[in-house]
Amino acid sequence: MSVSAPKMQGAEPKYQFICASAVLFPAFGMSKIGFAQKPNLIKFAPNIYRHTDMETVVSGIRPTGNLHLGNYYGAVTSFVKMQEEYNCLFFIADWHSLTTHPKPENIQSSVRTILAEYLACGIDPEKATIYIQSDVPETIELYLYLNMNTYIGELGRVTTFKEKARKQPDNVNAGLFTYPTLMAADILQHKAVKVPVGKDQEQNMEMARKCARRFNNIYGVEFFPEPQNFHYSQQAIKIPGLDGSGKMGKSEGNCIYLFEDAKTITKKVMRAVTDAGPQSPNSPKPEVIQNLFTLMEIASAADTYKYFDEKWNDCTLRYGDMKKQLAEDIVKTLSPIRERILEYSNNTELLDSIARRGAEKARESAAKTLKEVRQIIGFRTY
Ligand code: AMP
Repeated sequence: MSVSAPKMQGAEPKYQFICASAVLFPAFGMSKIGFAQKPNLIKFAPNIYRHTDMETVVSGIRPTGNLHLGNYYGAVTSFVKMQEEYNCLFFIADWHSLTTHPKPENIQSSVRTILAEYLACGIDPEKATIYIQSDVPETIELYLYLNMNTYIGELGRVTTFKEKARKQPDNVNAGLFTYPTLMAADILQHKAVKVPVGKDQEQNMEMARKCARRFNNIYGVEFFPEPQNFHYSQQAIKIPGLDGSGKMGKSEGNCIYLFEDAKTITKKVMRAVTDAGPQSPNSPKPEVIQNLFTLMEIASAADTYKYFDEKWNDCTLRYGDMKKQLAEDIVKTLSPIRERILEYSNNTELLDSIARRGAEKARESAAKTLKEVRQIIGFRTY
């Protein structure tokens, strides 16, 4: 099978960051690192690429398994859209994965899997920077500074920490506890203002904003912007599991994976948990049925959803018909993605070169921020 590699921009002008304060505050004297001085307040603006003033977007996914429909609709479809409108950095969160998978079998191959799946979904390395978290050591330095200003009480209240601690009582590690500050470092090192993530990340995003705010307050600067959760839909998306559980997730074992073939997907959808059927007209849907409808609302056409919703309301719904339609619609979306996953997965050379190029760009962005952070805190800069 031949693979058409996304074109790499050999002659592309190298991205150069300029400190926007040089543009915004030309009247103020510039310090060595090029930001404007004001009494007790040093005003910074977000990083701006010289040839564009797009806002910066950051998001990542852990390489703890293949991408599934939750990742796809909760995050990746937004990535693909946002790369057209923003300066995007999408990473593969291999450090984060150690919080739950401390001894990965083959982390490099897991990372390549996600990279191939990113590309197959339409993330384009010419439009967005795609990088591997562990290729950017600057993240760790910022993580350390943020940890100094984050309190154990607030970290202990994070729901995802409490849930994971419950699931792995023998491994409640400090990495799991400080997951939100590493996530904040991922975002703030690029001074990102928008973060496309699913509903499950809302509390972590609140922590990221707190980290930004607290840093600015402690050091008397307006340096980090407060990053906002972003989704194109009215609300953040949560793709439910088809086993009747609240959320589709790798660790829940209830996923429909992007690489799966039509037969497997159909089998999984047909097995989705249901009940005896609607008992009276216009009755509220029990959670397991609502889950099926939620998935259909996202994966199928609006007319299809409306048709089955009406059938529910007039008590003529046959779950088998609905599941068959849902499976068909999911397969229609996923089969071209599956083909591309198979192609990209075989091209290790291409995947590695995209990761190398992404690492360079991500490091350039993070290093600039870290240089300024060191200066703000008062460390010697060279
Ligand atoms: P993870 O697989 O936990 O690293 O999550 C990566 C991204 O996918 C995050 O933005 C999550 O919010 C999103 N995500 C994961 N599972 C779901 C789901 N069931 N519904 C919506 N978004 C999800």
